[in-house]
Amino acid sequence: MGKLSVRDLAVRGKRVLMRVDYNVPMAEKDGQMVINDATRIKETLPTLDLLIQGGARIILAAHLGRPDGKREPSMSLRPVAAKLADMLGRPVAFSDDCIGEKASKTAEALKDGDILLLENTRFYPEEEDNEPSFAEKLAASAEIYVNDAFGAAHRAHASTAGAAGVVARRGGACAAGLLMERELKFLGDELENPARPFVVILGGAKVSDKIKVIDRLLEKADTVLVGGAMAYTFRLAQGYKTGKSLVEPDAIHVAVRALAKAADRGVRFLLPTDNVIATPFNTGKLNKKGKPVFEFRDERLNASLDIPDDCEGFDIGPATAKRYAEVIRASKTILWNGPMGMFEDSRFAASTNEVARAVAETTQKSGAKSIIGGGDSVKAINLAGLGSQVTFMSTGGGASLEFLEGSTLPGVAALSDKR
Ligand code: AMP
Repeated sequence: MGKLSVRDLAVRGKRVLMRVDYNVPMAEKDGQMVINDATRIKETLPTLDLLIQGGARIILAAHLGRPDGKREPSMSLRPVAAKLADMLGRPVAFSDDCIGEKASKTAEALKDGDILLLENTRFYPEEEDNEPSFAEKLAASAEIYVNDAFGAAHRAHASTAGAAGVVARRGGACAAGLLMERELKFLGDELENPARPFVVILGGAKVSDKIKVIDRLLEKADTVLVGGAMAYTFRLAQGYKTGKSLVEPDAIHVAVRALAKAADRGVRFLLPTDNVIATPFNTGKLNKKGKPVFEFRDERLNASLDIPDDCEGFDIGPATAKRYAEVIRASKTILWNGPMGMFEDSRFAASTNEVARAVAETTQKSGAKSIIGGGDSVKAINLAGLGSQVTFMSTGGGASLEFLEGSTLPGVAALSDKR
């Protein structure tokens, strides 16, 4: 059953506690914390506009960083309140405590359309413990609960789950914000009954991180295209040499099972047939974490399925990228999770960019739906300047992956069902 949407609510004069994802990247500049990228704030504006127009009295709750349950000035949300006020062109009140008398008084003084941002909920350890009395305090003056923080919905915290329970027990509605609603639509409903052919592009570092996603999507997809380092664990499972490539010998059984399931269900399952490889060279230096720093030298094409012993595979090769692009161009639904190679290094970004171009072009020219499943694939699409040409880019990292696995996210489960 679908979840209640913020669009279904009558909010005039009501105090709405809204969980948002304002975990924005910040850096210190001249002794002050400055926001480096306000995308996450911008993404909440449609829901905020709707609530403001509807006459709600808005109380925003969010976390920033990992203060480990202590008050950490560099992780204060105060600069976010100022930025949000700027972006909305209206005042945003700030309470330097997310619970207690000051927060309640400010919340109770709100007029229709006013906004209050509460201080970082993670300044209290009770937030991540989802401690009931803390959730009760956080929701003290809330009559309605809205969650627009998909990126935090896989956590059962007081602000994502507990507070919704408090509001629901009082008979208040708990609804998805517009951003959350879009995430549930594209990562959920659209993939339940996808227009076919449905292609799933999987990449990234580890097979083990994506076991459940692979397993579930093999039940939906017509074709699976595999890239990234995870492809080498599949090749290892098939008995090929993978040299020094990033492989997971412990996950070979996962690869074997996935290949068998694909064959069993008639899902076309493609692995790279050529790769860009390089020779790792230990510089003798250590990075900040004390780990040895490697340089990757002499990058070149390897057209064999075996990778030489002293080499590492860093990208799928041009023939594979071309083949993958052809499959993508013939698809009506495209789901992409994980880059095709170590795209942060431009020498190994070519195939990720080619896949990104094929996804964008197919969306624009043949009306396919393209869904980018969060994290590094979103980064890669944006880096290629194609962010505006795909149907949907998830704002979640871990949350997207868990949702695609078919798991029930606590922050979603806490919302009221649509009647
Ligand atoms: P994930 O978080 O599992 O989607 O993995 C993303 C990371 O995988 C990115 O930082 C990529 O640099 C990395 N990656 C992708 N392909 C390779 C590869 N062939 N070798 C090493 N790292 C890779």
